Amino acid sequence: MNKDKLTSLIETLDYGPAPEQENRTREWLKAHGSRFSHYINGAWQPPKQGGYFKTINPARSDEVLAEVALGSKEDVEAAIEAAKGSFPAWSALAGHERARYLYAIARAVAKHARVFAVLESLDNGKPIRETRDIDVPVVIRHFYYHAGWAQTMESEFPGYRPGGVIAQIIPWNFPFLMLAWKIAPAIAAGNTVVIKPSKSTPLSALLLADILMNEVKLPPGVVNVLTGDSRTGTMLYEHPVPWKVTFTGSTEVGRIIRKGTAGSGKHLTMELGGKSPFIVFDNADFDSAIEGVVNGIWFNEGQVCCAGSRLLVQECIHDDFIKRLKRRMSKLRVGNPLDKAMDMGAINNAEQLKKICELMEVGKKEGAVMWQPENVVCPKGGYFLPPTLFTNVEPSHTIAQEEIFGPVLVTLTFRTPAEAIQLANNTRYGLAASIWSQDIDTAMDVARKVKAGTVWINSTNLFDAAAGFGGYKESGYGREGGREGMYDVLIEEDHGRHSVVSERGKISAERGDWNSGIVRGVTTNGNIDRTFRFLIGGKLARPDQAGSFSVTSPEGQLLAIVGEANRKDARNAVEAARGALPSWFESAAHLRAQILYFWAENLATEKGRFADGIAAQTGCTLDAARIEVERSISRLFDFAAYADKFGGTVQPVLGRRLVVGLREPVGVIGMRACDESPLLGFIAIVAPALAMANTVVVVAGKHAMTAMDLVQVIQHSDVPPGVLNVLTAQNPDAIAKILAEHEDVDGIWFFGSAEGSKIAEEASTSNMKQTWVSDGQEIDWSSIKSEKLLLKSTQVKNIWVPYGV
Ligand code: NAD
Repeated sequence: MNKDKLTSLIETLDYGPAPEQENRTREWLKAHGSRFSHYINGAWQPPKQGGYFKTINPARSDEVLAEVALGSKEDVEAAIEAAKGSFPAWSALAGHERARYLYAIARAVAKHARVFAVLESLDNGKPIRETRDIDVPVVIRHFYYHAGWAQTMESEFPGYRPGGVIAQIIPWNFPFLMLAWKIAPAIAAGNTVVIKPSKSTPLSALLLADILMNEVKLPPGVVNVLTGDSRTGTMLYEHPVPWKVTFTGSTEVGRIIRKGTAGSGKHLTMELGGKSPFIVFDNADFDSAIEGVVNGIWFNEGQVCCAGSRLLVQECIHDDFIKRLKRRMSKLRVGNPLDKAMDMGAINNAEQLKKICELMEVGKKEGAVMWQPENVVCPKGGYFLPPTLFTNVEPSHTIAQEEIFGPVLVTLTFRTPAEAIQLANNTRYGLAASIWSQDIDTAMDVARKVKAGTVWINSTNLFDAAAGFGGYKESGYGREGGREGMYDVLIEEDHGRHSVVSERGKISAERGDWNSGIVRGVTTNGNIDRTFRFLIGGKLARPDQAGSFSVTSPEGQLLAIVGEANRKDARNAVEAARGALPSWFESAAHLRAQILYFWAENLATEKGRFADGIAAQTGCTLDAARIEVERSISRLFDFAAYADKFGGTVQPVLGRRLVVGLREPVGVIGMRACDESPLLGFIAIVAPALAMANTVVVVAGKHAMTAMDLVQVIQHSDVPPGVLNVLTAQNPDAIAKILAEHEDVDGIWFFGSAEGSKIAEEASTSNMKQTWVSDGQEIDWSSIKSEKLLLKSTQVKNIWVPYGV
């Protein structure tokens, strides 16, 4: 280097080029003739009929990196068959044996870390700095961490087992990382998998396949990599064999998959889109917060599901903060992803680039002001975009609501913490949030009130295998990582289905006072006394259209006339449940426990009447009815006990951070109670939901007299108005459908016919509700584990709390 150049470099402190070596990655591509088959049953298998498609380098869009097999129906069949065939032996291995394989995968990935990092940058367009320092290390950590769950599974998850084949579909933004998030827990638990990478980023999955086959020597069929497009994905999730489909991608496709699997009995994990708030208070550490914004939205060119894409800044600091942010943006470097000094690489594909540009145009048209640093120059020949900032944004603007999935930040202001929370939650998504304040009280209060699966305090975009990740609301359900992620790849041994005779069957019907009361609704001379009303918002409400139906004994004897709910009644009940949610959510667990104990006590004083009612409606013996009543009282005690014990965890993770995993309520849950056990089936679903601070709208059908009897007990048990709302209907499935469609209901539980289950699941897609349906099978409510009911009643929010950083 000549002296002048050296002097100029010292003066300007400009970056020189710092390209990462590509040869080993290129050699690997060449060794395969730049053409890849599927990885099925431990071997490369050419596509049966789909041919090949090209995968390109988004930073040099005319460069084809490789040709990759397009999965057809026959290929899907072959991959599923392979996974199915390997399941018995893989699941029968001792946990320790599986742990050794996962450990070997982690070691092998670490050995080839640089080849993976380069390949991922080439195929995805993201900077090598990120693939080298984040994607690949987090992948390695994931396999190590899950080796640990494989090792300890028998002692840590007694009563659970792997379900079989899992179908897995992943997106292009973190191709290798998403693959690890899906594969590691699934095979650690003893499942086998077929995974379909995105069409535009299949290469890191194929490199892993090569390593599994030739170095790790994973038993054939345990992991199968099936490449292809959305049609391949459709054939995969529609296949009848997988017991579970786990999907990461857009909410739009998540909806299609939810609809397409409705009624199939398949379990789902949905990791979907986001529009996450990045909240900066006036007492934040500004410099850290500015770096946080850079990491929050320009990491991976903003193509991050949990990107902090909505900057909410306290009004009094807005101008100063934006000024500093613009100064920082001007220093960002966009260019060759393989240059180690680049902050931003290329957008992954032409379609995505077009979508981002269109949304930026919409932003401008709607009146927001767009700013891009003039000095940031994007290279030609690839899908590059500069960092972009929008100010003057209104909460209703399209760019404030839609996921842009690009390097585009929109800014809004707030005055008070309450307004910040309201703005943060003003979205259909709920994936993540980042909160910046030096005041722990403010930060934790906001963290608790923001509806999101992950909350980072004074930090952002941190990931660790020990902390589960997943969404609230339309960002999906289920978790990947952490202990909670393991429950999502396991099945309860007896699945809670009928026929298991439990210890609880030994509850005696002989104890206590079983004085019969009159069957409600019918006078002692057999005449109908009155029509029961619903419980809505703490009040007895008449049916909207004064409709009613008869509850009869199996022999046809009229027992009671109860209300017939319609759409309006269901809506009123949901409104009451929604209104009651914030204060119930804030209520002390001790209070919720007290209410459930009180309810149990009140039920016990009238147990004779309940037993008579159950026997009269169902035709069971009085003894059996009495056992059901005793079990119901015991269940109420169970959940009263758990109300203040099923709280969450604190998990130290990499770095100086604690992750506080809170088990939060799902929200408003709509329930269709089963017909078989009018009392126990009602209490076993309502009590855990209330214990965990959900509010409930429950509809009872055929044996609704018991539900109405319960209303009277509930009214004397201090349940706050709106927390529990009870409807009755001759066709409860129709009301369940209304609840499933309702945008203000967060979860739908359906215990009835297979057809009704399917309808409820289909209808749940309006806002991607969490669903739990019985698919026409009876559930043994006395043997089902309390833990399962509590897990169903909650979703995990992980709050990352830094210390001494
Ligand atoms: P996408 O939904 O278009 O595709 C995801 C995957 O689904 C791909 O493999 C694709 O081939 C397949 N697919 C597409 N249509 C399908 C169909 N009809 N049936 C079956 N499979 C189908 O998503 P994308 O554009 O690849 O990724 C971006 C999206 O992923 C964003 O919305 C982002 O927020 C989301 N994402 C979420 C998470 C999370 O953990 N929540 C993580 C990463 C990305």
